[in-house]
Amino acid sequence: MSKKAHQDLIIIGGGPGGYTAGIYAQRAALKTVLIEKGIPGGQLNNTGEVENWPGTEKISGSDLALQFSRHAAAYGLEMMNREVVGVEPGLDHHTVILDNGESLSTHAVILATGGSPRKLGVPGEDRYYGRGVSYCAVCDGFFFRDKTVVVVGGGDSALEESLYLAKLARRVYIAHRRDAFRGGMILQKRVLNEKRITVLWNTVLAEIQADEQGVNAVTTKNTLDGAISILATDGVFIFIGFEPNNSLVPAGTRMNANGYVITDDKCETSTSGIFAIGDLKEKYAKQIVTAAADGCTAALAAAHYVEHKKSGYGQ
Ligand code: NAP
Repeated sequence: MSKKAHQDLIIIGGGPGGYTAGIYAQRAALKTVLIEKGIPGGQLNNTGEVENWPGTEKISGSDLALQFSRHAAAYGLEMMNREVVGVEPGLDHHTVILDNGESLSTHAVILATGGSPRKLGVPGEDRYYGRGVSYCAVCDGFFFRDKTVVVVGGGDSALEESLYLAKLARRVYIAHRRDAFRGGMILQKRVLNEKRITVLWNTVLAEIQADEQGVNAVTTKNTLDGAISILATDGVFIFIGFEPNNSLVPAGTRMNANGYVITDDKCETSTSGIFAIGDLKEKYAKQIVTAAADGCTAALAAAHYVEHKKSGYGQ
């Protein structure tokens, strides 16, 4: 295992929180590297239009992601396109292990790994993934022009992505397990006013069916009377929330029952020098703007932590 130069701060994850942390870390003159395994932006790339980033009335998720990474690059932030496979905390320094076997030592770590789409767990979901089953309207919506799709969920993501799909598909059904949406009022109104969208209240999916061409129907169940129906569809888009990507959280670090990391008001976890931000962290509002705010808080707190560490070494 080879070792690289010691860092003040390593940020893992290149979403809104990670890039904001990078910008603030550069402004605080911390020797920092941001490591991202995929394309810049994380979940932002799966988002159609962003309309609640202050100062910008409307921007596509991928364009906003690009702006974040360009802004961080303009500050000279070092970025590495690799997968992190482990974070080992230590008393003197922490170690970040990469998929190529290299390890990096650092005073502080900011975990900005976000979340991944939650799965429904119904028959056909895994089998027909990529053949009609999708978790990303921006990525796959194009394949359903003038077709019929079923969206599952009732939160902001399901509503926002249904509106996106309604611009492409002939008919969009939203199957929601209750009789009221969880998502915000503005989105609810838009969805209920969109002629191409039909809401199936109190409805869950029991199975996804397909033929050689891909998905062709879903079996639905009414949650009130148990009635089973078959609904013909070309695609199924599932937006039922996220699971935190917590596999890199060091053992013993406090998390809640759902796997979200518990932090103090400086975004520091119960493991000293390890910070958690954005959708990985337990908090009330999971928004781009709150992820960015976490990034700022964690970077400023990390700067303080690193300064303290260095003064302890007499540097
Ligand atoms: P969410 O708010 O947790 O909503 C998940 C939805 O899926 C709920 O309606 C839930 O039903 C339903 N659901 C969960 N498990 C299910 C299951 N097994 N079977 C059927 N339905 C199920 O998730 P989200 O919409 O992905 O949003 C995540 C966070 O990001 C939220 O804080 C949201 O506000 C935020 N977000 C914000 C924006 C924006 O501001 N523009 C956009 C996207 C996301 P119940 O309602 O019955 O629980």
